[in-house]
Amino acid sequence: MKNLFVLSVVFLMVACGPRKDVQINVIPKPAKVETGKGSFLLNEKTVIVAKTDDEKKVSHFLTNALKKFNGLQVTEGDAVNNAIVLTIDGNSGMAAEAYRMVVSKNGVRLTASSPAGLFYGVQSLIQLCGTGKDISIPCMTIEDKPRFAWRGMHLDEARHFQGKEFVKKFIDMLAMHKLNVLHWHLTDDQGWRIEIKRYPKLTSIGAWREDRRGEPWSIDDDQRLPYDTSKPFYGGFYTQDDIREIVAYAAERYITIVPEIEMPGHSRAALVAYPEVSCFGKEKKVPPGGYVGEHWDFSDPYCAGKEETFVFLQNVLDEVISLFPSPYIHIGGDECTKRVWKKCPLCQARIKKEKLKDEFELQSYFIRRIEKYLASKGKRMIGWQEIMEGGMDPSALIMPWRGDDALPVALEAAQKGHQVIMVPSSYLYFNGDWESMELSHIYHYDPIPEGLDSNYHAAIIGLEACIWGENTPSFRDVEYQTMPRMAALAEIGWTPKEKKDWKDFVARVEKIKALYKQMDINYYVPSPRGLPEKTVFTATATVAFDTVPEGLLIRYTTDSSEPSVKSSLYEKPFEISSTTLIKAAAFDRYGQKSKTVVALFEKQSFRKAVSVPHAEKGLRYFIYAGRFRGADLIDKAMPCQTGVTDTLGALVKNGDKDGGIRFEGYVEVPADGIYTFSLASNDGSKLYIGDYLVTDNDGYRSAFSRRGEMILSHGSIALAKGMHPLVVKYFDWGSGEYLKVFIEGPGISRRELKDIIFH
Ligand SMILES: [Zn+2]
Repeated sequence: MKNLFVLSVVFLMVACGPRKDVQINVIPKPAKVETGKGSFLLNEKTVIVAKTDDEKKVSHFLTNALKKFNGLQVTEGDAVNNAIVLTIDGNSGMAAEAYRMVVSKNGVRLTASSPAGLFYGVQSLIQLCGTGKDISIPCMTIEDKPRFAWRGMHLDEARHFQGKEFVKKFIDMLAMHKLNVLHWHLTDDQGWRIEIKRYPKLTSIGAWREDRRGEPWSIDDDQRLPYDTSKPFYGGFYTQDDIREIVAYAAERYITIVPEIEMPGHSRAALVAYPEVSCFGKEKKVPPGGYVGEHWDFSDPYCAGKEETFVFLQNVLDEVISLFPSPYIHIGGDECTKRVWKKCPLCQARIKKEKLKDEFELQSYFIRRIEKYLASKGKRMIGWQEIMEGGMDPSALIMPWRGDDALPVALEAAQKGHQVIMVPSSYLYFNGDWESMELSHIYHYDPIPEGLDSNYHAAIIGLEACIWGENTPSFRDVEYQTMPRMAALAEIGWTPKEKKDWKDFVARVEKIKALYKQMDINYYVPSPRGLPEKTVFTATATVAFDTVPEGLLIRYTTDSSEPSVKSSLYEKPFEISSTTLIKAAAFDRYGQKSKTVVALFEKQSFRKAVSVPHAEKGLRYFIYAGRFRGADLIDKAMPCQTGVTDTLGALVKNGDKDGGIRFEGYVEVPADGIYTFSLASNDGSKLYIGDYLVTDNDGYRSAFSRRGEMILSHGSIALAKGMHPLVVKYFDWGSGEYLKVFIEGPGISRRELKDIIFH
């Protein structure tokens, strides 16, 4: 009987001839795949064969995944038929991270020369199994290895602390994509997240701040309203035991954690805890906030003149080194402001003593000294591109991040003999909006672009994507920003350039989302588009969304409840005839939901015009001095100047001081109709017709996007022909005064509001 079985196995294996038309659902796409005929059907009777300790360590990931994703309880043991055989063969001649997978009708043979290679093979196999109990893997042979040695993902927890459980989940996310570095940003202005036993205040003080997630970051304490300090502080940190646990968790998944301890800048939290290592000890509070506003500035750095600073940092690094086996320590080195060094007598004395040219060379002195210290401990230093300013030892690794593709800096670094890890912000800063950095944009990035002198190819050892935490208060936000972008990152870092294929990638991303869903990852789904936040109508209005990408369904509610998979399905445009609040979200095939969009359809009757005898051209204006946090707050102040103007604008510079303006009068419209008013301002503004708030552009804001486009806030109102009372309120905090008001309506294409304003 046994012999018969073996014979049939041989027959089946022979039946697996070549075939090329099967989509292989693995991300990153393997370097080489040859498909055969037929499939291997994996079931509960499949046996996983792993003999050595290293093989067994890896096999557990497979048994656990089959249980979690497929509901299959397979056993480990010894078998020839219906078996998955895992082998580490140090003499196989394969590269360290390479693996070979042969799928026949009878089973899977996975071979590698190292545990990491075997682990990557298992990750491919897990993806091939997908979800559900019916597992059918096409017969094929995969020969796979990574294109780049450094395939990293960064995580910033200084801005918002996410905690141990999430970091482990994040590591799992990296592991399934065959990434091998977690660059952990543990310290910054807004928080210190790692316990340092010698300096307990780093975490007892530096890890906590006021909970002001609803406000923009500010470095300037006196720009804050008084705060109720009895409220619990916001933040957290990792104990050294936590760190060891996380490092071990990552190591089991063949991921190196590279800690980042920022210096000399981005160090406010440390300087608040230990003012003696700053130049003047002015740092009083860990700066609170929850998103990037217009008033953010970088903090002052450690004092480069005091010996104490270096003793402090070396002691900190000693403990960091003892916790992280990584051969690399990242010291940041970016965005170091030099203004306080210019004023500090000790920093200036250091410049003189060391015969340095300026503060840039002082930064270089600082970084070189740390670099030497790390080298004496057997560690290599990594820094952002700024560490090259003023010269740097070539043993340091450089992360170019600025500019369109960061390539000029990468070239400069390579020419100077550095190894380079590409982190261009325009492609690999995953904290950016999905609308401005779509998946295809990221996918088409290449760290070694065509035309790059081949002498420098070897210097570029890999790439990394960053998730900076300023705008991601919760781990759900981190997931949303990161996934499935991480899949694109993985494929850039692993797959041979000529094998990359965007259309094929998109299809595979749809498959891997099934695993994301089971891992409870809050991955991005595009929201329904096409509905303005508010639509004003007088008779009926049409609700019409833009076409959604294939595979997505729009569901909506009209009763203010959150849309769910059970809500009404949007199939085609429909009409409404009364005021309606639409809440809509897109759902993918796995039930993953997009962010909800809210659109108000407001039914109005034409607002009656008023009679204004002796109307004169222009609006009255009232200027207010002082610091306001909202446009309506100027109403409580006394105007310091008044007059009449025919232009609505930030005409009142009021010097560099903060202040506000109120414009008051009438607007005359030429016909009955719906008129749209638009505001662009820095900072907030509001426009009223009578007591009706037409458009609300309040709060700290910029009038232009980073790309230089005007940011407009629109609002509409149904007006009868004639004069209508108009009020515009505006405030400015800090620099950048700007206000523009536009009108659009029957017979008026959008233009600035003037000529038809009266008082
Ligand atoms: Zn100093």
